[in-house]
Amino acid sequence: MPETDPNNFDVIVIGGGPLGLSSAYHLSKRKVRTLVLEQFTYINQLGSSAGVSRQFRIPYPDAYMVKLVKQSMPYWDELQALTPVPLRDKVGTLWFGDPAVQSTEGNIKAAEAALREQDVSYVSLTQAELEQQYHFRNLPENYVGLFQEDGASIDLKATQTTLYDWNRDSPYVELRQEAPATRIRHVHGKYEVTTPQGVFVAEKLVLTPGPYADDVFALLDFGVAATYWSMASAFYRITDPAIRYPTWFVFQNPVGDNGNQFYGFPEVSWNYPGYVRVASDFVMAPLASPDQRTPVPNPRELDYTADWVGRHMTGLEPTPCYTSTCLVALSKIANKELLIDFAPPSVPNHRNVVICTTGWAGKFVPLIGAILADLALDGRTRFDISHFANGNQYFTSRRKSDQ
Ligand SMILES: Cc1cc2nc3c(=O)[nH]c(=O)nc-3n(C[C@H](O)[C@H](O)[C@H](O)COP(=O)(O)OP(=O)(O)OC[C@H]3O[C@@H](n4cnc5c(N)ncnc54)[C@H](O)[C@@H]3O)c2cc1C
Repeated sequence: MPETDPNNFDVIVIGGGPLGLSSAYHLSKRKVRTLVLEQFTYINQLGSSAGVSRQFRIPYPDAYMVKLVKQSMPYWDELQALTPVPLRDKVGTLWFGDPAVQSTEGNIKAAEAALREQDVSYVSLTQAELEQQYHFRNLPENYVGLFQEDGASIDLKATQTTLYDWNRDSPYVELRQEAPATRIRHVHGKYEVTTPQGVFVAEKLVLTPGPYADDVFALLDFGVAATYWSMASAFYRITDPAIRYPTWFVFQNPVGDNGNQFYGFPEVSWNYPGYVRVASDFVMAPLASPDQRTPVPNPRELDYTADWVGRHMTGLEPTPCYTSTCLVALSKIANKELLIDFAPPSVPNHRNVVICTTGWAGKFVPLIGAILADLALDGRTRFDISHFANGNQYFTSRRKSDQ
């Protein structure tokens, strides 16, 4: 590599979670000098990647999401080739419940239609088959299900470690931790990013700050319309090891303040073996900002989840153990999707600032890094991100003159 000013980079990535590390991985493959700034330590538990398992699933109610998950698969394979540690444990995805329910994840019949449109195979299930084959019990008679075999539990910690190790060893990437970006100025066509470890300069920025998006965007005088969920999860001890669950999600109508939507994982070797994780996919008290987050789950959300486990699952002790929370920022887009866009035009050279925030991005980690690298370097990507480029609706101005 040619001699350069050590504080000068081609691209600075702000936010060193899985999406920031994946962006740096793809930038480094294109031989681009990249700095990643992480405000805490790498692979921390303080953002949206807390806990270590995520669901990889193809069912979505929209065909474009099904297509995007399919497109992510070769990127997962590429990452897998870098490590002997399995990044995804392929156990399948089971979606079941009331076919009339429109949940935050969509609707079972709509997902079946989207899978057919994208030529993805799946099996439809009756209530009796759900109970016989998948060990749930006391399900209402009208419940139906679908099983899609490519679903998996993602080992998110191993995924981040693989990306971290690659970047650490790359001559093109510098990783800094405990290096929060506290100020961004646009000077002579470049961005000057201030941190407690010094001032760094680059022509382009990639912003992947997870739930801390508003704090980082404020440095460029804009914000994002989002809500913050501190999601509760717990582990339940396995009493019958012969019973194996896939990753699953149950679609049910809310009952009073019980959002009544739950999802779960099989036992995984990398996280509390001997237990399965079940979590609620509703939040009784959304937060106004990430500062309000606590590591203690809302007890009512936990009670509703444990009650459902006790009534409908078999082979488990229905007492929640190892409880935790994880913070996610969700855009106010109706289906709470990803936001991938350039910064708003109020930001100088706004197309040199690429942003990914909000939504359920665990399953897209290797692919979104490639997309953000494309956008930063080429200003475009071959992937269809038109559904996520909603900055004009969800970015808000913080400039005094606009208020
Ligand atoms: C409970 C829960 C369950 C989920 N389940 C699924 C699932 O099953 N499937 C799925 O696909 N997705 C799921 N998701 C979503 C998925 O986990 C996230 O989309 C993904 O982990 C986000 O990664 P990230 O890199 O964007 O954010 P993060 O992991 O939050 O990383 C952002 C990083 O930016 C850093 N940062 C912020 N501000 C600054 C600054 N000023 N300077 C420097 N660094 C900064 C933060 O410290 C943080 O480390 C779930 C999320 C939660 C919370």
